[in-house]
Amino acid sequence: MEKIKHLPRCYNFSFDHEKLELLVGIQKATIPIIKTSLTTDSPLMMSLYQNYGGDKNLFINFGEKDKSFGYNNSIVYKEETEDEIVYSYILTPAFEVTKKTCEYCDGTGINNINGFSCFSCRGKGKKLIESERQFDQALISLFPIIWLENYIISDELQDKENISLGLKLNYSKKQTVALSWSSSTGMNNCFMGGWLDKEIFEWGKTLTKEQSHIINEAMRKTHETLFLSKKEIYDYRLHYFDERLFSIDIPGNACCVYGPAEGTMEMFFTNLGTTLSCHNVDGRFQQILFIVGLSVFNDLFDLDKNK
Ligand SMILES: [Zn+2]
Repeated sequence: MEKIKHLPRCYNFSFDHEKLELLVGIQKATIPIIKTSLTTDSPLMMSLYQNYGGDKNLFINFGEKDKSFGYNNSIVYKEETEDEIVYSYILTPAFEVTKKTCEYCDGTGINNINGFSCFSCRGKGKKLIESERQFDQALISLFPIIWLENYIISDELQDKENISLGLKLNYSKKQTVALSWSSSTGMNNCFMGGWLDKEIFEWGKTLTKEQSHIINEAMRKTHETLFLSKKEIYDYRLHYFDERLFSIDIPGNACCVYGPAEGTMEMFFTNLGTTLSCHNVDGRFQQILFIVGLSVFNDLFDLDKNK
């Protein structure tokens, strides 16, 4: 079997700082098989419907021109390139600000016991109500797509004598970051991980202060936008320990995504890159912060390479 030197770019995450928009490019060659897999009664899809409800047409528009798909149509068709369809999700807050005065702070926005910003209204002075938490819906909607894309990548690494999918993938671009997260959340049931290509892992060690700041700031801004509360930059950090261990730290109980991590994702047991795992990821907001951080990391790498 011919040795694969790099993974074909099956999908690509990117982040627009101005619009606070998460972009996902999907390689067109993978779309037909993903489309079929999304409409079967596979354990993957059954468990999704069991846990989150919805009718079986939720994913029917995936891969169709100008059509959004997923829970609440949260994943929006943006554009097409020669080999990719690009989908978009624009960050929206988990709360809506109503016109009613906040009853905890009488509209001052200040907690009168400790003088800090009122936790109930996040300093807005108006009563907040929970919105549809669209970022939950967006991540749940992308979950089966990325799960299946990772399956395709893993299939590419198998011996083609025992061919299973036999797709003709485009290798002209390289998958530099792969992501993996659980659809479930909670203290014992939540996961965020992924994989970094060798080249981007090494490149990451040369990040300048400015580049690190761009990544950290994107995660901070995402958190602030989703929860309408002020966040401090020092809580968000992409860094390396001893030029060896990659880590992204975000708010939580020592919550991080790190690598190399052995034994977490079989599909990425290759010498092509570094597997990432996590510590104390409990919630979807943490998953999305990591996705944004890794997307920006990926964007900066692309920018550097295409200079
Ligand atoms: Zn208040």
